Amino acid sequence: MVKNGAKIQVRLVNKVIFNEIYDPLIKFEKIDVTGVRRECHGLQIAKNERTCMFCAQSYPDVKFSKIAHAVSESIGNKTLFNHFECDKCNSAFGQKLEDAFGKYIAPFKFVSQIKGKNGTITIKDMPEDKELSYKTYRLERGSGSDSDKNYFPQDYIIEKSGRGIFRETEEGFAIEIPRNRYNPRLVYAALLKMGYSLLPIDLWDEYVIGITSLGLYVRNEHPFDNNTESEKYINGLPNKGILAQFPGINPLNGVSAFLYQRNEKAPCEYTKLLFRLDFFNFSILIPIVSDRETQCSKFVIPAFQNNPSISVIDFSKEEKIYTAYFSAEKIPIEKNMKETLALELRERGLLKKP
Ligand SMILES: [Zn+2]
Repeated sequence: MVKNGAKIQVRLVNKVIFNEIYDPLIKFEKIDVTGVRRECHGLQIAKNERTCMFCAQSYPDVKFSKIAHAVSESIGNKTLFNHFECDKCNSAFGQKLEDAFGKYIAPFKFVSQIKGKNGTITIKDMPEDKELSYKTYRLERGSGSDSDKNYFPQDYIIEKSGRGIFRETEEGFAIEIPRNRYNPRLVYAALLKMGYSLLPIDLWDEYVIGITSLGLYVRNEHPFDNNTESEKYINGLPNKGILAQFPGINPLNGVSAFLYQRNEKAPCEYTKLLFRLDFFNFSILIPIVSDRETQCSKFVIPAFQNNPSISVIDFSKEEKIYTAYFSAEKIPIEKNMKETLALELRERGLLKKP
């Protein structure tokens, strides 16, 4: 049995107080900070005694030798793990969902300066010209490190004219950050997987069809071994969410993950479970429907501090560009600095030879 689609219309409800509808269920804060490893259900289970929540298979039929991140590693999770995810499902989730999720959050990582292992974050299209390390644009943060190369900036945006990525505004500048092609529904599915991972065991009964359906989908197993059924499943997910954006430097204090549960007195037009992922300047909230819910139409937003800007995410539509606004002071560049910079840019394949 697989999960049928539930209808979710996102209507933002302002007059309702979030805390009157939802109770906090799970909260893991600062999971990006290296430190004590945590199993998200509060358990420590030996590898040869584990069972997978996504395929219901146990050791030794499936192995548990890989480290399963409860929240994606690509967003910066270093400490929160799941002992109920087998290697087979772990690989399938990685192959099927991580690419889309990574592409969707790339502009957010650029804005929040979440750098990769090499100390930089780069957004570019693929080179055609052998002399250049990009096709029409390259955005990079945190690359200038050589002490003798004083003129090379930490952050830069390079684009061929007419691409329209960088523009000046009254307060500073705006960047239209392009995303590489991705399937937005897989981004919802990636977030859904994180929400399921955190779900307390005593609630699994209410979500078991949803959890196993997602597992079958990522593993391409029956009935999702054909395109029609796969499409039907992924299109039938709620595919809605809320994005809250906070100004400043790391206003959300790193990466945190939350689940909220509708309290018993609240009307059932609100989805029973919400997953929230906070990372640096951004918070994403998605509804997670239980196996019995089919119509949940309202969304109420937590009382965020610092007045973020709030928008609805429609995961059935690809958002090719994310626009980020920055405040900045403009300073002139001296002529000799320009020449040195041009030289550096040529050395790095960022500017064509004259
Ligand atoms: Zn599994």
